[in-house]
Amino acid sequence: MDYISTRGKVGNIGFIDAFMMGLGNDGGLLVPNEIPVISTETLQQWEQLSYQELVMAIFSYYTNGEIPEEDLKQMVEASYSTFRHDEVTPVRKLYEGTYLLELFHGPTFAFKDIALQFMGQLYSYVATKYNKKIHILGATSGDTGASAIEGVRGKEGIKICILHPHGKVSKVQELQMTTVQDDNVLNLSVDGNFDDCQRMIKELFADLDFKSANQLAAINSINFVRIMAQTVYYFYAYFRVKQETSVERVNFSVPTGNFGDIFAGYLAKRMGLPINKLILATNENNILERFVQEGVYMPGEFCSTYSPSMDIQVASNFERYLYYVLNEDAAQVRKLMEHFKTEGEIVLPPELLSKVQADFSAHGVMGQECLDTISDYKTKADYLLDPHTACGVAAVEKCAGTGEVTVSLATAHPAKFDEAIRLCGIEQQFPEQIAILFNKQQRQKRIDAELSVVADELVKFYNS
Ligand SMILES: *Cc1c(COP(=O)(O)O)cnc(C)c1O
Repeated sequence: MDYISTRGKVGNIGFIDAFMMGLGNDGGLLVPNEIPVISTETLQQWEQLSYQELVMAIFSYYTNGEIPEEDLKQMVEASYSTFRHDEVTPVRKLYEGTYLLELFHGPTFAFKDIALQFMGQLYSYVATKYNKKIHILGATSGDTGASAIEGVRGKEGIKICILHPHGKVSKVQELQMTTVQDDNVLNLSVDGNFDDCQRMIKELFADLDFKSANQLAAINSINFVRIMAQTVYYFYAYFRVKQETSVERVNFSVPTGNFGDIFAGYLAKRMGLPINKLILATNENNILERFVQEGVYMPGEFCSTYSPSMDIQVASNFERYLYYVLNEDAAQVRKLMEHFKTEGEIVLPPELLSKVQADFSAHGVMGQECLDTISDYKTKADYLLDPHTACGVAAVEKCAGTGEVTVSLATAHPAKFDEAIRLCGIEQQFPEQIAILFNKQQRQKRIDAELSVVADELVKFYNS
C-alpha cells in the first residue's frame, strides 16, 4: 500500500516516508491510496485475538512490508507493556445496550497514549535504523502533549517541542507536560488558544525549507500513523460487545475535537467493520455538530469548556473525511480547502449531506448537560465519567435508536479533569502517578502567539 495526499500533489510514497512527512508537502493530509477491506472470514478469525495480536494483524495492511515482522512485534509489545490493564482497552457495560470502551489505561491517563506510545517507538526505530535526527513538533489542547512527551522523553536522537495554550489546559495536563525534566523536551506555553497553536505548527510544517532544515516530525493527528493505531480499538471493542450481546452492528459514540479519533472509526467502517452509526459528540465548540446537521463547515467563536481537549474550532482531520465524501477527488478537495482559506466556510450540496448523515449523527453537549451527566452516572451506575467521556455518553442518550447497541469511547480518566468533577460536588482520589505530580518542579516558557517567536525558540532548542 502506498500513501497519497488528499490534495493530489504527493504520492505514491511508502509507509515510513508518510510517517516522517506528517503533513503532506502540498498542504494536504496523507491517506492510503486504497483502503484495505477485511473479509468476513478474516474478521471472524480476529475475534479471538489479544489486543497486541490485533494491532499486528491490522498494521500489516498498512506498513507496506517496510518493517520486518519481528521488529514491529517488539515495538508493539513495548508500546502496550506500559498500560495498566492487561486487555489494554477493556470494555465494560454502563447500562443495557451501552458500553464504555476504556481508553485511558496508558501512562498519561488519556486515549492519546494508544497511538503515541507506538509512535514514540517508531520514531526511535527510524532514528536508530536510518541514523536520523528527529525533531518532533506538536500543538496540544492538553492530552496529546503529555502523551507525546511520555512516548519519547530521554530517547536518543529525538527532541520534542510542544505548544499548549496558556491557562487553557487542565492543571493535571499542564503538570504532566511540564514536570518532565529530560533535556530533549521543550514546552512552549502560548498566549492564545489551541487553534492558534495548531495554525502556527501547520504553517511551520508547510514551510518546506524550514521543515527540512530542522528535521521536523509530526505527532498530531495530521500524522496518519495515529489514525492507523486508533482503528484497532474499534475492532477490539466490536468483538467484545458482539461476544456478549450477539448483535451484528454497533454504534460508536466519540467525544470529538480534531476529528482524528472519529475518523479512525470511519476508517474501521470502510475496512469492513459492521459499524451502524458513528455518533459525533462535541461541546460548545460545535462546528462539527453543525456540519453533520446542516452540511456547513464554518468555525464559530472559540469557547473554553469543561472538556478542554475538545476545545477546537478548526478540525484538521476533517479534510481526510472530506476527501472520502468527495469520492477521493483530490482536485475538488483542493478547491474546497482553498475556498475555506479565503471564505472561511465549506458548504456541501444536499446529496453529499445525506451521505454524511448516513455515516454520522451528532450532538453538541453544553456545559450544564456535561456536569449533569457526570453526576447522574456517579449516582445511578457508581461510575465517574471524565467530562469528555460524559459528552460521548450524553450523545448516546440523544442519538442512539431504541434497541441499538452503542460503544461510547471513554477518552480520559476523570483525575485529569478534577476542575469539572469538583463542580459536580464530587471528591475523587487521585491515582498515585497523578498525585505525585503536584510536588514536582515545572519547566516551560511562556510566549506570544507569533510564528516568528515560535520559530526562533525552535531553532535555539534544536541547536542546543
Ligand atoms: C484529544 C481528545 C479528544 C478529541 O479527540 P480528536 O481525535 O481530537 O477528535 C477527546 N477526549 C480527550 C480526553 C482527548 O484527549
